[in-house]
Amino acid sequence: MEEQNEVLTELEKAGRIEIKQNVSLLNMAGLRTGGTARALVFPLDTEACARAAEACGEKLAVLGFGSNVLVCDGVIEVPLLSTSRLTGCRELDENGKFAVQAGVGLTKFALKAAQAGFSGAEFMYGIPGSMGGASVMNAGAYGHQLDEIALKFTVCDRKGKVYSVDAADAGLSYRHSRFQESGEIVLETVLRLTPCDSGTVTDLMNSLMKRRKEKQPLEYPSCGSYFKRPEGQFAGKLIEDCGLKGLTKGGAQVSEKHAGFIINRGGATASDVEKLEDEIKRTVKERFGVELEREVRKLGAHGFEK
Ligand SMILES: Cc1cc2nc3c(=O)[nH]c(=O)nc-3n(C[C@H](O)[C@H](O)[C@H](O)COP(=O)(O)OP(=O)(O)OC[C@H]3O[C@@H](n4cnc5c(N)ncnc54)[C@H](O)[C@@H]3O)c2cc1C
Repeated sequence: MEEQNEVLTELEKAGRIEIKQNVSLLNMAGLRTGGTARALVFPLDTEACARAAEACGEKLAVLGFGSNVLVCDGVIEVPLLSTSRLTGCRELDENGKFAVQAGVGLTKFALKAAQAGFSGAEFMYGIPGSMGGASVMNAGAYGHQLDEIALKFTVCDRKGKVYSVDAADAGLSYRHSRFQESGEIVLETVLRLTPCDSGTVTDLMNSLMKRRKEKQPLEYPSCGSYFKRPEGQFAGKLIEDCGLKGLTKGGAQVSEKHAGFIINRGGATASDVEKLEDEIKRTVKERFGVELEREVRKLGAHGFEK
């Protein structure tokens, strides 16, 4: 621990990085669970981010907006890097090519693109994550996902080396990218949108948001769909057909509005959520023979579960 503190002190001294110690993570992740981070590292630019990666190596855990993260109870011992200050967004040409840094919010970007008269990012509207998180998760909604518009990613490895990865080499598939295993940190994503009438795009985004509000329990903390969609099925439908809507463990509950969502009804711990997850998986397996796979990423004391 002393060694970690020394590394972080040196890092902060080098500049363009803010570090906060012993921070409660309760309000920093989708389900509002979890304990305290020993250290939260905020690089102010991509160079500083690469320096942090080099200094902390494999130990460093990366947090976007935390909207797809279940933070475990207790203390997160490894340093946590927040991309929230990497908020640059550049238009690379006049035809809809954008370079978007990891900490740009998806809803904000979708709005910006629509206002500038470009289509392709509408599906991002209403997803409460960052561009970095969406790149790592290959986020998607309403029949579209990031891999349709991603051209390339600027990433850094855990030695601080910065390089470019073509979208075709990023292992993008349903809610998956190679970055989930490689430990590469996404600094910037280059996207190709297409010119379109601004009003048409805005109308579409508003109708998608209306659908979200009607179907999803947005009034409670959650990580969105907790499980991935099994091949040819919907996790929410399987869970509902098992009669599990409303099932409760402590403060965690299977949403009555959308059975694919686990919500925090108040005071849920990560352990409550895990108990609910186990029971859902067991019941769905017994009833339908389907193994549900968690989409949500678990952050434990020593980093993310692979
Ligand atoms: C109400 C609600 C609705 C949602 N709807 C959708 C939806 O329609 N479609 C969908 O796909 N998802 C949805 N989600 C899930 C979530 O918003 C997305 O997965 C989002 O892309 C995650 O972004 P984030 O910045 O919050 O990432 P985080 O949750 O912070 O991180 C997710 C994973 O990515 C890693 N990570 C984050 N940023 C980086 C980076 N820059 N470099 C390397 N690793 C990184 C983290 O280590 C973690 O493993 C929803 C969530 C909620 C709460």
